Amino acid sequence: MSAKRQIGLQSKQSRGLIRSLNRSAVQDDKSPPVARKTPPLHEPTVCARCGAVFLRKTWRHNHALSEAQIEGAEWGFCPACQQVSRREGQGRLLIRGAAAGRNRDAIEKRIHNVVARATKTQPERQLVSLDARDSGLEVLTTSQKLAHRLAHELKKAFGGRVTYTWSDDGTLFATWDYQTPKGRAARQGP
Ligand SMILES: [Zn+2]
Repeated sequence: MSAKRQIGLQSKQSRGLIRSLNRSAVQDDKSPPVARKTPPLHEPTVCARCGAVFLRKTWRHNHALSEAQIEGAEWGFCPACQQVSRREGQGRLLIRGAAAGRNRDAIEKRIHNVVARATKTQPERQLVSLDARDSGLEVLTTSQKLAHRLAHELKKAFGGRVTYTWSDDGTLFATWDYQTPKGRAARQGP
């Protein structure tokens, strides 16, 4: 265990962390760990869960950041918080479709509401990022359960179709396809 943790803290942080994450997440599984290629961790990276800052190759809570550094910061997870999120895996929700583009403000508002409610009761469930991706949006969460809930709530509120794919490491990849507003063809159930 400690060897894994050390790998994560060395200079190849990002890659090492993700590898050790996969390794420990699949330990009950027969399948081999999936090696993912990721670029070195961006500096500064701010931990989305606890606010620690990665700068000069170290994670600290008291790194002072300049305005320019704050603007160039990216969201991520410190090793401690990675361990927390490892328990339930991480989530990714891809939002696409013609109606999604037209209702982007309402969708983002809905996402922030759902996240705020979830984080209040389960602090480890947080939004990592919400970015424009091609013609849609990509939402990353610390928890696969939060990604699942977001997809579910968005479908309930707006309509459309949701698909879920779980990886061996507990990560959820959800897609919400929102082509037609609720009340038209996409309407199902009550
Ligand atoms: Zn953290």
